[in-house]
Amino acid sequence: MIAVHHVSKRYGATVALDDVSLEVASGTTHVLLGSSGAGKSTLVRVILGLVAPDAGEVLVAGVAVTPAPRRHLVGGVGYVVQEGGLYPHLTAGGNVRLPAEAAGWPGERVVRRMNELAALVELHDGVLRRYPAELSGGQRQRIGVMRALMLDPPVLLLDEPLGALDPIVRAGLQAELRRIFAALGKTVVLVTHDVREAVLLGAAITLLRNGKVVQQGTFAELAQRPVEPFVTEFLLAQAPPAELRAYF
Ligand code: ADP
Repeated sequence: MIAVHHVSKRYGATVALDDVSLEVASGTTHVLLGSSGAGKSTLVRVILGLVAPDAGEVLVAGVAVTPAPRRHLVGGVGYVVQEGGLYPHLTAGGNVRLPAEAAGWPGERVVRRMNELAALVELHDGVLRRYPAELSGGQRQRIGVMRALMLDPPVLLLDEPLGALDPIVRAGLQAELRRIFAALGKTVVLVTHDVREAVLLGAAITLLRNGKVVQQGTFAELAQRPVEPFVTEFLLAQAPPAELRAYF
């Protein structure tokens, strides 16, 4: 469904991506894992078409992605960023409606879809009437997910969607995202530096460092057959609890 072929991207002297390739099968979740500066966000933006690679190409459902501004509001790919990336001057509902309005949907179809999505992410009506500044971090994130799902895109790209949340809210939303991805059968690319999130959500993982792919595979493969010591160091760096130790 998503194929990244030999993508490279530099910013001046900085190599953000260096010959990165990966495949994401339809209906699965692929996690981009790595420290800050590893190139994860750049890769998501290239897949989305917000950033043009210097070399290589990306195919989504067999179609080459060509860069276009405001890609995150239209088309077949939903995009969620940290804190939801909501427009502060619009209510939560106004943010959720935006892609449908841009696509020219009639009002009653928009309302029907908003109600469906509010039920899916377990938000009640009152929340949709508030402005982003009046919402909790978890609510903002749910609104961001609703907006990304508005046009029912087959593909979702989530860039550290839960990064700004406290651990308890985060754990709850992780479980919720897992349920939503499975229920909707979406093809998902999710960026995180949280190893537990990678285990919970990722059928496959790409571990990046300095713009390069270090290793790709399931968590168990990375844990049991690390290609270099860095893989184990990275996976264990967050002092994993017992549930992760079982993989090693
Ligand atoms: P990550 O998401 O893994 O933290 P990024 O993709 O944001 O990593 O960044 C990869 C590298 O590219 C970093 O060194 C970052 O500073 C650099 N970079 C990313 N975007 C830009 C940009 N627009 N201009 C200049 N440098 C950038």
